[in-house]
Order: sequence, then structure tokens, then C-alpha cells
Amino acid sequence: MDRLAHAYLLTGVRGVGKTSTARIIARALNCIGEDGTGGPTPDPCGTCDHCVSIAEDRHVDVIEMDAASRTGIDDVRELIESVRYRPVSARYKVYIIDEVHMLSKQAFNALLKTLEEPPPHVKFVFATTEVRRLPVTVLSRCQRFDLRRVDMEVLIEHFSRIAADEGAEVEPAALALIARAADGSVRDGLSVLDQAMVHEGTRITEEAVRAMLGLADRTRLFDLFDMLMKGAIKDALDCFSELHDAGAEPQAFAAGPAGALPLADPAEACARRSGRPSGARGGTHARARHGRGVDGAVAYPDVADAAERS
Ligand SMILES: [Zn+2]
Repeated sequence: MDRLAHAYLLTGVRGVGKTSTARIIARALNCIGEDGTGGPTPDPCGTCDHCVSIAEDRHVDVIEMDAASRTGIDDVRELIESVRYRPVSARYKVYIIDEVHMLSKQAFNALLKTLEEPPPHVKFVFATTEVRRLPVTVLSRCQRFDLRRVDMEVLIEHFSRIAADEGAEVEPAALALIARAADGSVRDGLSVLDQAMVHEGTRITEEAVRAMLGLADRTRLFDLFDMLMKGAIKDALDCFSELHDAGAEPQAFAAGPAGALPLADPAEACARRSGRPSGARGGTHARARHGRGVDGAVAYPDVADAAERS
């Protein structure tokens, strides 16, 4: 019984776990179980020789190639040459090709021949951030898995656990900002958190993260929102220019007023849910007026405040 696909395709934003998943697939294909008699399994043991050496990225039959740096026909030709040889110790030779969309057209054509009639001992695992750039001939020969962006809540929880392990105290709002900046990518978020710990030490505040990410000061952001809504263009431009001089990143900043709108800002909602008081003046008011559930209402108070202040 051999119903395993010859090629797998993993898609998703960077830092979402594609390469890690590829290695898990390689383990699942090659695991022999703790007693050394097991077959391919959806649940690799993690303790047999194959599992261990694949996890440590040193298995001779699991070949990783980064197509971003090796895009040419010669690179693929070299790979295809080696496809003919049987695995040294594993059940399958697994070729993991990262950023596969970077391959040249010729390289894809060469690869396609092998994909059409792969030797039985060979499996391919492709990973890509841009699935639309893959030829349909390749797509159609792969079992595809779309890895979703990691949810804000999960990111926040993950980062807070890591911060705790590192002995750092991070404000919930700061964590929410980091998670939002990560945009679903665990790796991106971790590098921001890492930077914050290098800069700030063991106590990381919302202000520090905001400054680090080049996000504008919150109160000024609402001022700007007010001005825009009132059509006070000169004031708005002055305000924008002032914030720009202060070092705010224009792109992050432009997303700001939109982020101030209710329901458009999950980071905000999360920050509130994880600890900030919600009994603000506008809170109950907005909730009663709009009659929404908790999730819908949490983002309202500041907007109500901003409106009342104007
Ligand atoms: Zn195993």
C-alpha cells in the first residue's frame, strides 16, 4: 500500500513554520519507531535515529535546498542527478526545497520531469511564500497544505511565555503591539521581542515597543483622526509632519487612523482583553448604544472618547 504523495507543497507567510513542518513530514516518512520496526506514520516517535538526526538537520537522506540562493538550471540538474541514487539509510530520500517559487523557468521544467515520474524512494517537500508564482504543472503534482497566519491570541500567549522564560516582564499592551507587528509570523514577532529585550532589559513597556516599531504616539494619533474627520487638512498635515519629524514610520502611521476604527484593530482588542480597564467613560455608553457583544464593543471606548474630545 503506497498512497503517499510524491510531492508536498507548504504555503504561508514567512516565519509561520513551513521549514519546521517540512522536517516533520520528513520524519513522518522515515520514522522507524522506538523499536525500529515501524513504517511511515502521521505521528513520528521523535526518538529513533532518523527522527533525531532529521530534527538536528544532519540526516544524509534529507536534503534541504534554498531556491532563493540556488535558482538556476545547474543547481536543479545537480539535484536531479542525485535523485537516481537510493537513500543511504532512510526509507525515503526527502528533498526539501525552500522558496521554490524562486526557481527559474528552466529549472522548473527540469524538475517537472522528475516530478512526473519520481523514483519510488524519493519525496519532495516544497515550501513557498508565493504560491501564485508556481507553474500549475508543478502545483497539480503536489499535495498542498496552506499554513495559516498564526492568530494574535496564540502569538501573544507564545511571546509572553518566552518573555517569562527569559525573565522579562512585558506589558500586555506591548505584547499585543509585538504580535500585531508580527502579522502572523512567529519568527518576525520573536525578532522584535528579542530586540526589545536587548534594548530595554527585563522590563518592556508599551511606549518602548511603540518607539521601537516607529509607531506614533497614541494620543496624537487620535488627534490626527479627529482632524481628518473634520476635514482640517492643514492641521492634519502639520500633525503628520510633526510626528514624522519625531521619527514615526509613515507607513505604520498611515495604518494608525484606520486602526483606530472599531473592529479594525485586533491588537487593540487583545490588549484590552488582557488586562486594561474597560470601564472608561465612553465604554458603557458605546456598548449600550451599539448593542454589540464584548468582542465588538471593546474597541469602541477610545473612539467615543476621541469624538467627545473634539
Ligand atoms: Zn522516529
